[in-house]
Amino acid sequence: MHIVLIGLSGSGKSSLGRRAAQMLGLPFADLDERIEQEAGLRVREIFDRYGEADFREREARAVRAASSSPISGVIATGGGAVLRPENVRLLREAGFLVFLDRPVAHIARHVAYDGSRPLVSGARDLEALAARRRPLYEAAAHATLRNDAGFDEALAALLALVRTRNPPGGYAVVGDPIAHTLSPLLHRAVFGALGVAEDYTALQVPRGALADFTSGLRAGKLKGCNVTIPHKRDILPLLDEAEEEARLCGAVNTVVARGGRLCGYNTDMEGLLTALRAAGRGYRGAAVLLLGAGGAAGGVALKAAREGARGIVILARRPQRAEALAAAVRAAAPAAPVRAGALTPETVAAAARTADLLVNATPLGMCSAAADFDDLSFVDALPPRALVCDLVYNPPRTRLLRAAEARGLAVQNGLDMLIYQALLADELFLGRALDKAALYPIARRAVADMQSP
Ligand code: NAP
Repeated sequence: MHIVLIGLSGSGKSSLGRRAAQMLGLPFADLDERIEQEAGLRVREIFDRYGEADFREREARAVRAASSSPISGVIATGGGAVLRPENVRLLREAGFLVFLDRPVAHIARHVAYDGSRPLVSGARDLEALAARRRPLYEAAAHATLRNDAGFDEALAALLALVRTRNPPGGYAVVGDPIAHTLSPLLHRAVFGALGVAEDYTALQVPRGALADFTSGLRAGKLKGCNVTIPHKRDILPLLDEAEEEARLCGAVNTVVARGGRLCGYNTDMEGLLTALRAAGRGYRGAAVLLLGAGGAAGGVALKAAREGARGIVILARRPQRAEALAAAVRAAAPAAPVRAGALTPETVAAAARTADLLVNATPLGMCSAAADFDDLSFVDALPPRALVCDLVYNPPRTRLLRAAEARGLAVQNGLDMLIYQALLADELFLGRALDKAALYPIARRAVADMQSP
């Protein structure tokens, strides 16, 4: 069943539909966009040049094409798609229709009357249009969703509505916030390529609800899950067992439910190593300079120590955290040559001089993080052989990576790590080895459009 959003222009069909599709791991179709792409003209231009009747013909063709697609997706319709009874019949046969009921006053406040939307040149037009269209939306819809409390609230309500009809089974990624996750797209693409008929969705689980969530998991509500911020550490004591490396680095990103027992794993650290190896690199014999001492850094440091790095320098803005991580690594790998210190431009530059691999395991430079590196002069200190690896993948090229590229250094962003940790998690979920080299391009294609430039 498709999920079809109907409602006035400006009611949030495109923005909510796109984000809901991402979280559900479903393809997204915006019918107005499709019409514009096919015509090479904006909707407004089609109206002006050929008239409304011509546009409605194009719209009917777009409805026929989208509703007959055998692959379920989220469809955002144009505001007037409900004008033709035939459109409504096709959409209702193919999907679950949700009327996004956004008050006219909200639309009027947020939508620019810049001439891009036909039929509406001001708030008064919008009032009249809303009065004419409301009965059509109400008659067509299977459910109405009031969109008057903000984007996040409307998104949560839309997902809850969809899940009430189709409760999640199979697998999920859990975290809070979770709206930006790429995991459903990745895992669904992999399951699709393997012919595995399993669902994979995103579930928002607030901090206080983790114990309830794991009880449900143990009771068989899901077969397994991936775990992201802020639960990677907190989920450990709620599990029945955890593999050694997950215990040592104190973080779990994958849980498999086996016969009522919950088993935890960490595929992040192996994911990064696989990504490095795919680029012809690794930790063996390398001098590793690690920025940050959080969950991801813990996995990198531990793996680098166990893989035989010739030196590991951990620098963090709270040096005591770097020291604590170094002590944990020494406990797990007593021979590991680990040093720790404060993260300052001077300490990074000093350690950079001999580094073969620099890993940024802080959120500095991430699109949703407020902060970025103040000073990137340490990049100039790196030797020409060094690889600069940023665990951040959105944006795909952080300032750090751009500076390294400008110096002619090899770079890698966090997308490959994300893809490989997902493929490794799928091996655990499905209980068999996967051809990761063959699945990598499929997974990469699935998320290619979702990163901001
Ligand atoms: P975390 O546990 O919160 O650790 C973050 C680390 O960065 C901590 O050492 C923290 O220091 C430090 N930090 C935060 N803000 C900073 C700032 N403004 N200046 C200097 N240091 C700062 O997070 P995490 O789970 O390790 O994630 C770290 C990064 O890796 C994130 O960007 C995350 O998205 C990325 N990641 C990517 C993947 C992937 O698959 N590509 C997987 C996991 C993580 P304090 O302890 O002082 O706060």
